[in-house]
Amino acid sequence: MSANPNSPNRQYTLERTRNIGIAAHIDAGKTTLTERILFYTGMIHKIGEVHDGAATTDWMEQERERGITITSAAVTTEWWQRNEDGVTKLFPELKQRINIIDTPGHVDFTAEVERSLRVLDGAIVVFCGVAGVQPQTETVWRQATKYHVPRIVFVNKMDRTGANFQNVFNEVKEKLGAHAARILIPIGAEDHLIGQIDVVNQKAIFYSDSDKFGSTYEVRDLDDAQKAVAEEAYGELVNAVADVDDVLGEKILMEEAFTKADLKAAIRRATIANKLIPVAGGSAFKNKGVQYLLDAVVDYLPSPLDLPPAVGMDPDDHDRHIEVITSDNEKFVSLAFKLWADKFVGKLVFFRVYSGSIKKGDTVYNPRTRRSERVGRLIRIQSNEHKDVDVCYSGDIAAMVGIKNVTTGDTLAAEDHDVVLEPPTFPEPVISMA
Ligand code: GDP
Repeated sequence: MSANPNSPNRQYTLERTRNIGIAAHIDAGKTTLTERILFYTGMIHKIGEVHDGAATTDWMEQERERGITITSAAVTTEWWQRNEDGVTKLFPELKQRINIIDTPGHVDFTAEVERSLRVLDGAIVVFCGVAGVQPQTETVWRQATKYHVPRIVFVNKMDRTGANFQNVFNEVKEKLGAHAARILIPIGAEDHLIGQIDVVNQKAIFYSDSDKFGSTYEVRDLDDAQKAVAEEAYGELVNAVADVDDVLGEKILMEEAFTKADLKAAIRRATIANKLIPVAGGSAFKNKGVQYLLDAVVDYLPSPLDLPPAVGMDPDDHDRHIEVITSDNEKFVSLAFKLWADKFVGKLVFFRVYSGSIKKGDTVYNPRTRRSERVGRLIRIQSNEHKDVDVCYSGDIAAMVGIKNVTTGDTLAAEDHDVVLEPPTFPEPVISMA
């Protein structure tokens, strides 16, 4: 069990992979947030090119293009975390891969969301800072709870008239019954939204309109008013985490000192165990707010290794379970979760690898059709392009080309591996509280 699950050839380890969905009520800002994440993470291709003057048109141009990408089933991006002083170090070992899987935002999507939930490991749930928790999002929320999907809440549109972070935070606790704690608190609101308080680090982060990839964040000490808010929120956060995390709880009980790293590790454990919901507030329109949300994704949402492995079974005897281990050193097992007709490439089969790895040209077996087919190409949707890749590893999300007899929900596995992933179960009907 202790063997390294990572192939030495892969670019990103499993530990540095995040597969997330962004769920939201229609209009809360899911599309905008996804676009901005792609823009800010995509800046790796634009070092030194984004300046104030030309930036507006550049952005619009890029966003129009990216509009196409983000409606795709899954898009891959990469991210470097900053340290607590806001410094980004471009060390390869600090690079993270984040796959964003599209979760439909409509009411009639129950089965589809379920499928997404089986593919993603964590989610950002976006609420509008004005409208707050809406009935439709309660449905998604309950499904996410049912499937044990760890979540971070992002209260968006804090720049809009009438936005109120505290109200939405209270609704998350009261209407959704979430054990929630604030990690990023907006500074100001409406026209005066200027930044965020980083509760763990007790620092203020200021938004800026111009940025270069890899630049230092504008992190400042808190003024007196911000300090009062930050200290109260810190106390609440520590208590909320200690309530559900034994390690931190014990330390506090024994009056032992704990470090920021201890606190972050405890938040991470509690979030992954679905016992805590970290809540951040800001605006997708604001530069640094989006980056800090990505840091929270890396800090608190699980890697594929943090979750129980997928359940496999014998296709002819569903009572016979077959272990599907999250490791590159196992036989290949994947789930086809979305089919997509692409104008240029043809039929794309989006899949998630649960176990093993697959090479371009390999043959995969589909236990439903009892047929094997050859994988012509492996494609990753990255920034705004289809990128051909030679190998996909455990935890990866990508698309295959060349597979004809497949439907959403099929297991595709190594030819000599007769296994089917546990089929989705359907949730009880949810009575909305409109
Ligand atoms: P979706 O339906 O959840 O994908 O929402 P969209 O991303 O399409 O956003 C809905 C509307 O809200 C669009 O007009 C966006 O420009 C706007 N919007 C998104 N985020 C923000 C924000 O942070 N502040 C403001 N003021 N408007 C936003």
